Amino acid sequence: TVQTETLGFQTEVKQLLQLMIHSLYSNKEIFLRELVSNAADAADKLRFEALTQPELLEGDSELRVRVSFDPAAHTITIEDNGIGMSRADAITHLGTIAKSGTGDFLRQLSGDQKKDSQLIGQFGVGFYSAFIVADEVEVTSRRAGLAASEGVRWTSRGEGDFDVATIDKAERGTRIVLHLKDGEHDFAEGWRLRSILKKYSDHIGLPIQMPKEGGEEGAAVEWETVNRASALWTRPRTEISDSEYTEFYKHVAHDHSDPLAWSHNKVEGKLEYTSLLYVPGRAPFDLYHRDAPKGLKLYVQRVFVMDQAEQFLPLYLRFIKGVVDSNDLSLNVSREILQSGPVIDSMKAALTKRSLDMLEKLSNDKPEQYATFWKEFGQVLKEGPAEDYNNREKVAGLLRFASTRGDGDAQTVSLADYIGRMAEGQDKIYYLTGESYSQVRNSPHLEVFRKKGIEVLLLTDRIDEWLMGYLTDFDGKGFVDIARGDLDLGALESEADKQEQEAAAKDKQGLVERLKTVLGDDVAEVRVSHRLTDSPAVLAIGEQDLGLQMRQILEASGQ
Ligand code: ADP
Ligand code: MG
Repeated sequence: TVQTETLGFQTEVKQLLQLMIHSLYSNKEIFLRELVSNAADAADKLRFEALTQPELLEGDSELRVRVSFDPAAHTITIEDNGIGMSRADAITHLGTIAKSGTGDFLRQLSGDQKKDSQLIGQFGVGFYSAFIVADEVEVTSRRAGLAASEGVRWTSRGEGDFDVATIDKAERGTRIVLHLKDGEHDFAEGWRLRSILKKYSDHIGLPIQMPKEGGEEGAAVEWETVNRASALWTRPRTEISDSEYTEFYKHVAHDHSDPLAWSHNKVEGKLEYTSLLYVPGRAPFDLYHRDAPKGLKLYVQRVFVMDQAEQFLPLYLRFIKGVVDSNDLSLNVSREILQSGPVIDSMKAALTKRSLDMLEKLSNDKPEQYATFWKEFGQVLKEGPAEDYNNREKVAGLLRFASTRGDGDAQTVSLADYIGRMAEGQDKIYYLTGESYSQVRNSPHLEVFRKKGIEVLLLTDRIDEWLMGYLTDFDGKGFVDIARGDLDLGALESEADKQEQEAAAKDKQGLVERLKTVLGDDVAEVRVSHRLTDSPAVLAIGEQDLGLQMRQILEASGQ
């Protein structure tokens, strides 16, 4: 018996569908990239599962995806012989969005099409992009290993709901038929489809086949491969164009926007592996969610093994996307095995260094793009010095700060910039932390620095005090929090300055004593300070005490 059910899309899916249809109209052809990308993922998964269960291949081990069309019926069909879906798979994967935080994110949308269309890049576009060109989508599928009678047919018009029925499907894998919308019939055309595939999917390792043109009427279809069909990272760098790297990124990262940079390396010697790492151009909306996808796509000798292998990069580089293909790991490597071991450790160290080098190169060669990177991911990179002590100097070099000589509250000043314009006799890097830019900018602590023309870094992100707890020096210069203790300006103070201060301290001894009596236990000490030029008094923090930011964080968490 065929059981048909009608099920509603999850609210988030409905919103995403609306958003997609209305905001991607200028780039409709990407639906094909997404469906082919899914077919390639399905082939990867089948190949991997078949390593331990060869019977899943059902005697058909030549994995491929086929794209055909019917101009009279206005349909395009995309068919793969990958892992396929069960009925339950189809209901969850084609009816819900699994990413946590999606609801919150979508509720913030502005309704402004232009802005929203940029936001969609943070989602990846995915299967639902089929509805950009189709007013009806029919998916028939059977998961490898299930009986022919356990196939599924999923159909929807991309509005509120979809139908699912159990059907017979002899061949495993997925077939998707798109019924093109009235204005989109032109897509059902051989040359058009070939050129779209060439443009977006040439890098796909799976053969993409189309019916040979000019076949005899009534004769069996002859299929020909229309893409290059070799895994992109296995090819020599010199033969890969920027647009191929970019399209490959979109496939691997499930991202709709362009990457900022990439680094493609083949390592030979004691360990053998190839890595292709990317810096995304935009933070995903769930960057700060605990369970957001992170990690690299792992291949072993060109066979896909797992997505989100987190063990190859530290957490503060969790935004890096890409592929690592190892010749040393075994094909049945598990997440547990990946936890540690000499091979993993040395790959992690090398890939961390590669990522940092890639960022350094970006900052040197393309400062504007690095500024974009910093805006999107700078906060995450600030976790680096605490997590990765060995690379703290390298990470510190990549940090950017607001400063009294910078461009307002924009974080644009590097430590190298700062050191490059240090005053004569200055051997410390001065900084001030606080709640907000306007607060620190007007702090009395800055008065003496303003007077002497010394630059001060202004740190107002929540993570900054914690970060500075792990940064003691850079390029041999110590960091000094100017709100702390008895500020010693060292050689920056002249003999005359010092004498003047001593005289003032003596002079005001009586006032200091009276203030001590009045303030009592509320303060640890009262001192005559040379920090100030205009303000009468300022609160300073003890050398060993917690900073104000940290105190507030601890208070907020009830400690
Ligand atoms: P993503 O590819 O980022 O996971 P998609 O929206 O493209 O998101 O696809 C959603 C899910 O639907 C996939 O993760 C997969 O589980 C399933 N799916 C889509 N297409 C196929 C296919 N051709 N074969 C098997 N499963 C598929
Ligand atoms: Mg996809």
